[in-house]
Amino acid sequence: MLTRLTISDDHAAYREEVRAFYDAEIAPHVEAYEDAGEFPRDLVRTLGDAGLVGVPYAEDVDGGGLDYRSFAIAMEELARTWKLLAGTVNVAAGLVGYPIATFGTPWQRERWLADVFAGESIAALAMTEPDAGSDAASASTTAERDGDELVVDGHKVWSTNGAIADLLLVLARTGEDDGHRGLSLVGIPDPHDRDGVTVVRDIPSMEGEAAVETEIRFDGVRVPAENVVGDPGSGFRYVMEALDVGRIGTAAQGVGVAQAALDASREFADEREQFGQPIRENQGISFKLADMAMDVEAGRLLTLAAADGRDRGDRVTQAAAMAKTFATDAAMDAATEAVQIHGSRGYSKEYPVERYMRVAKGMQIYDGTNEINRVVISKRMYENEGER
Ligand SMILES: Cc1cc2nc3c(=O)[nH]c(=O)nc-3n(C[C@H](O)[C@H](O)[C@H](O)COP(=O)(O)OP(=O)(O)OC[C@H]3O[C@@H](n4cnc5c(N)ncnc54)[C@H](O)[C@@H]3O)c2cc1C
Repeated sequence: MLTRLTISDDHAAYREEVRAFYDAEIAPHVEAYEDAGEFPRDLVRTLGDAGLVGVPYAEDVDGGGLDYRSFAIAMEELARTWKLLAGTVNVAAGLVGYPIATFGTPWQRERWLADVFAGESIAALAMTEPDAGSDAASASTTAERDGDELVVDGHKVWSTNGAIADLLLVLARTGEDDGHRGLSLVGIPDPHDRDGVTVVRDIPSMEGEAAVETEIRFDGVRVPAENVVGDPGSGFRYVMEALDVGRIGTAAQGVGVAQAALDASREFADEREQFGQPIRENQGISFKLADMAMDVEAGRLLTLAAADGRDRGDRVTQAAAMAKTFATDAAMDAATEAVQIHGSRGYSKEYPVERYMRVAKGMQIYDGTNEINRVVISKRMYENEGER
């Protein structure tokens, strides 16, 4: 495998180990949960018990104590097995875990993060609003100070796992500034036991019935003022930093889904016969498989390169955006071709490739749309020449 160039023998062994674990503990349950349209809460605990939710975080918060290349490997293999669970882990580890682990107080790390990384708590990020999507800095949700408390009012959409979250991290205006320097990250533990938190609906989406994408309202929700993560007014910056990690995780998911699409297609093209021969004997099919294989390898290299940069302490904004964009576009291409290679069977719900196509589309949209990521990549070319 080309990526042996960027990872150690220990990383290669870790890949084998996590793949075997997911094959044994996760894969046998995927279809049942998908068919029932049920979120796999038990499987999140299984992952937490195995140290596979907070892979790159310290063991004192129940993290895996490993590096970001291991995180990328674990995310890729999990997405190859079931992307829905990988998305849940990426929110926990990247978007919610990173700001709390990096900027949170010791008690926030201990009380909030340890449970999330143990798989006991589900974490969600509530950033996107109906009128603040790509332009997240224009968020209008407020968290106003009232004595020792903050009072949260606003409307969020597309909060992955919001309706079942035990910890919500909300991007809200705390008033330091009218722009992005007036936004803070506010932790709302046990949100569904609090007055003023309303789940408006689960947004039906291409992620499938088992996924939870939540529209949620906050009307006078009170939390202690000490629930602000890090410095008030720095929430937007923390989210941008968290996205460097989240995009490595999403890039890895793209690689995992593309690999799954390739695996399924390779097997199908070998078994399916038309005109008296396996369809892989046709150059038109074999070239599709070759393109998929190239994209998987290139996406994996970009992803591991971004993760390697983080392990070295480099700023990886551009590298993570490149990896996320390339790998999720590759996943969309590979999944679309996988459906085509499977013919009518690919279009049915009886084969997994239609699911790969649906979830790949989501990955091109979240963690910054791939258009926004291209904006990030091109801006960094001028702002920080030589960034690797
Ligand atoms: C499956 C899924 C899970 C999600 N999970 C979460 C979550 O957990 N928490 C959360 O807070 N949000 C989440 N989101 C929301 C996601 O972050 C937003 O959908 C995304 O940021 C885009 O915002 P928007 O949908 O409002 O699109 P818009 O910002 O309205 O964009 C519409 C289109 O215009 C393009 N566009 C906008 N601005 C520019 C520009 N400057 N240059 C070029 N093109 C541009 C976009 O790329 C897009 O194609 C999730 C979304 C999905 C689909």
